Amino acid sequence: MWDVNVATGLSVAPVGDFLAGLKRTVGAAHVIRGVDDEAAPYRRDWTGQFSGSPIAVVKPKTTQEVAEVVKLCCDHGVSMVPTGGRTGLCGGGVPIGDGTSVLISLERMNSVRHLDQDGRSITVEAGVVLQTAQERARDRGLVFPLTFGAQGSAMIGGVLSTNAGGSNVVRYGTARELCIGIEAVLPNGSVINALTGLRKDNTGYDLRDLLIGAEGTLGIITAAVFKLFPEPKARTTGFLSLAALADAPRVLNVLQDRSGGGVEAFEYMPKAAVDVICRVFPKVRKPLEDAAQTGVFFEVTSPREDDAQSADGGGTRLESLVFSALEVLMEEGIVVDAMIAQSEQQRLDLWAMREAILEAITENGPAYHMDISLPLAAVAEFVATMDEAVSEMGFQPLTVGHLGDGNLHYALSAQPGRNWADLPLARAKQAAFALLAKLNGSFSAEHGIGQSKLDVMIDLKESSQLDAMRAIKTALDPSGLINPGKLIPVPRDP
Ligand SMILES: Cc1cc2nc3c(=O)[nH]c(=O)nc-3n(C[C@H](O)[C@H](O)[C@H](O)COP(=O)(O)OP(=O)(O)OC[C@H]3O[C@@H](n4cnc5c(N)ncnc54)[C@H](O)[C@@H]3O)c2cc1C
Repeated sequence: MWDVNVATGLSVAPVGDFLAGLKRTVGAAHVIRGVDDEAAPYRRDWTGQFSGSPIAVVKPKTTQEVAEVVKLCCDHGVSMVPTGGRTGLCGGGVPIGDGTSVLISLERMNSVRHLDQDGRSITVEAGVVLQTAQERARDRGLVFPLTFGAQGSAMIGGVLSTNAGGSNVVRYGTARELCIGIEAVLPNGSVINALTGLRKDNTGYDLRDLLIGAEGTLGIITAAVFKLFPEPKARTTGFLSLAALADAPRVLNVLQDRSGGGVEAFEYMPKAAVDVICRVFPKVRKPLEDAAQTGVFFEVTSPREDDAQSADGGGTRLESLVFSALEVLMEEGIVVDAMIAQSEQQRLDLWAMREAILEAITENGPAYHMDISLPLAAVAEFVATMDEAVSEMGFQPLTVGHLGDGNLHYALSAQPGRNWADLPLARAKQAAFALLAKLNGSFSAEHGIGQSKLDVMIDLKESSQLDAMRAIKTALDPSGLINPGKLIPVPRDP
């Protein structure tokens, strides 16, 4: 007797046979039944919003084992959900429904295969934790730059599949721009090995680019090659109070020009966000005495030894470059107040404050998170218009963002004394997405679509692009077995 997979509509072979096959492939110790206690962390996503019980969690150790697991799932008509560090924020890494999919966890594929010192690249398996890759590069005097709050848990496969960004995209780009090679198992179980790490390779469609940002819907990434960079020799980190958000592009560009393009972080941290962090984490100290309505946390770095040398007036040469930029901006009345970290501890405290925001908002109470991007020049208009509109509806906007690349995390929470459930969330979302469309913005900047933004995707993504995505998906995964129900919305009835 065969069951029907509710996610794909296909028949599923009896679970007993199937589990035995999985155990033969990866070893019994590396297959957990979905209903077991040990599988509990895999059944729910980081936000707690999405859950689903898999048939089993299977943990292959090699690319070959991944390929065999995929073939076995195909043979049995079982859908598959790849999973890494489970820090994704859109419900992409949990199954839809119960008992229909297998979770393929890449966590045991955690080797750093190679670090090419001359070519300045690193080859890592999909289950390597981002922070581990950073540390391995640092051990060799190089930098793996991708940085964000979940770096201690997020894994390379997840990072690539969501095309993660974070706080230094302004300098180094997103995961896509850093990746120069990929190895993956396609939905039919075949392996593509494109781990050459070549900086130039124009030999047809770029399957690497197709898999990056595909959220596990086109195959399972098993390893990748990334660019590495020289380690900064000097750093200047600080917090600014700006007269107006509309001045942020000028501040960014003056800092860039004076430092030779050295801005590594340029993060929007307005008063409301800093207040929430300090309330939820009382040990965090406000960076400026007089709270900055328009706060910006920034870091400028330089890989040049010269910039780490002492300057005439004290401090490093890089610091004096930053001071000279700030002097100009203060004379123009654009920067109202500034704090520069005077020790490594102060620098780390500023970073810890920045990275605490998502947890602080989550602890603060119910909220709806938008992860949007805009042309830099349109950010101030978006924030001013939306803040006014949603405040009238009873929301308190809590915004932070990777301002340097026009990416805002615009969260709506309830004003004190207002009941979240009574607030007109649909109206607020509609207002935000209409304004985004008018300002040429994107409704999903760096976290992806997963399950959580399928409704927005079908409303706002150009239908010709959606059709092309569906055609690619069908060509590579005709049975729809890889991560069904994610990223690509089902077309609406005509
Ligand atoms: C506190 C916090 C801060 C964050 N800050 C940022 C930020 O600044 N910038 C940012 O971009 N993101 C951020 N995120 C989101 C998240 O960390 C990233 O999306 C991360 O890249 C996900 O990696 P993961 O290993 O946890 O993936 P998972 O959550 O395990 O999976 C994410 C998606 O990738 C797919 N997937 C996982 N592994 C593979 C694989 N090997 N092959 C194919 N598909 C796979 C899954 O099916 C799922 O669709 C943050 C999250 C948290 C909790």
